[in-house]
Amino acid sequence: LDHVQTVSPTVAQTIVREYRDQRTNLKLIASENFCSLATQLAHGNLFTDKYAEGYTGHRFYAGCDNVDTVEAEASRLACELFDAEHAFVQPHSGADANMVAFLAILLGKVQTPELEKLGAKSAMALSEEDWRRVRASMQDHRLMALDLYSGGHLTHGYRLNVSGFLFEAHSYSVDPQSGELNLDEIAKQVREVKPLILLAGYSAYPRKINFAKMREIADEVGAVFMVDMAHFAGLVAGKVFTGDYDPVAWAHIATSTTHKTLRGPRGGIVLCKNEFAEFVDKGCPLVLGGPLSHVMAAKAIAFREALKPEFREYAANVVTNAQALAETCQSEGMPVLTGGTDNHLLLIDVAKGFGINGRQAETALRSCGITLNRNTIPFDPNGPWYTSGLRLGTPATTTLGMGPEEMKEIAAIIKLVLGNTTPAIKTKGKAKGEKSQVKFVLAEDVVQQARQRVLDLLGRFPLYPELDLGMLS
Ligand code: PLP
Repeated sequence: LDHVQTVSPTVAQTIVREYRDQRTNLKLIASENFCSLATQLAHGNLFTDKYAEGYTGHRFYAGCDNVDTVEAEASRLACELFDAEHAFVQPHSGADANMVAFLAILLGKVQTPELEKLGAKSAMALSEEDWRRVRASMQDHRLMALDLYSGGHLTHGYRLNVSGFLFEAHSYSVDPQSGELNLDEIAKQVREVKPLILLAGYSAYPRKINFAKMREIADEVGAVFMVDMAHFAGLVAGKVFTGDYDPVAWAHIATSTTHKTLRGPRGGIVLCKNEFAEFVDKGCPLVLGGPLSHVMAAKAIAFREALKPEFREYAANVVTNAQALAETCQSEGMPVLTGGTDNHLLLIDVAKGFGINGRQAETALRSCGITLNRNTIPFDPNGPWYTSGLRLGTPATTTLGMGPEEMKEIAAIIKLVLGNTTPAIKTKGKAKGEKSQVKFVLAEDVVQQARQRVLDLLGRFPLYPELDLGMLS
């Protein structure tokens, strides 16, 4: 850090402040975690100075021998970890991984003269006119995925994301009564829509999915079955989701982030059956620029860590903790969607439980040292900005070593805060007398009490205790 400090005190101090923030606030964001110091350090190395467009053994640059070794090692470990036929470890993020997968599916499945040319040679073989036709043909194909409000992701065909421009996007939802996926209903819809891609996976759905059954549904109409396991990859690697619930076994292509439950560096991966391997490997330069070799090095470290028996224990604990948190939230009177969870996350309807919206709940909790995010709930009347829900996840607190007892304390602190939060009443203008959607009232003594309980908890489970804390002063 001294070197950083010499060049920019602002950046150095901000890094230290971020460390202090993560050490003194309770991280319940379901998509975040704390990767190991080995992973953190493998990130910061001189691979960042190296260009390596192409893939292992097939580069557009000279001097890539060491990058080849790192990329091959990360790919081999990813295949071992997930029992996958092929792995592509270059994507810089989950969104990139999805884009690589979409293009690989188009290359592998859609037969137009232009795409055949692209599949057979390289992107460079296409003239501008060819590309125009490729783009036009993409829009003839249908992508079907879980809708955003039911817990799907923006990159699954949302109209404001490029995936929504590439394809004719269709979505399926959860059942309005149970809040769960109804696979028979999805099968009916798939038979009508006949998508090129049936996509499963989510950012905010608390139940496990029978991927074997979804593959059957896809096969019935000849669709490619894709799973975006960005959120729950750690539960797959840690053998919590096995058999019919193992996405890699059943999907033609599975994508993931590496930084959520998988506890690696920020990045993405694509895993696929051999039939898609050559098309997935075209991801660079078809979608990506030069791969982040330093991040591939950190991915290799994280995959090795995830292959250890301790990681299986971690994955099982993540779910045990989420279930303990859900149970206590329920018994404290908070409405937990679907009545519980099978994975690392749960959703609470704060509009129903406390008469506030998700944004007010998120801000009130953050003021007391709890970091989590507001989330839409299915068919949310408050829309995606204010929302009616909160999403809570246990990957990070489990990494710190917390267990079910600590989850009970966390649920009690959340109840204390939300039970004392009320919307402020507007005092000016036309809306005078109405409830504010932004401001809220929360007594200072409650804030202090909750904050202290959070600090007591975190004091027993410090982040990176081996780091020299002198820099925090
Ligand atoms: N897919 C899913 C299901 C996600 O939840 C996310 C991120 O939250 C992504 C993809 C995108 O990942 P990234 O932010 O790394 O692009």
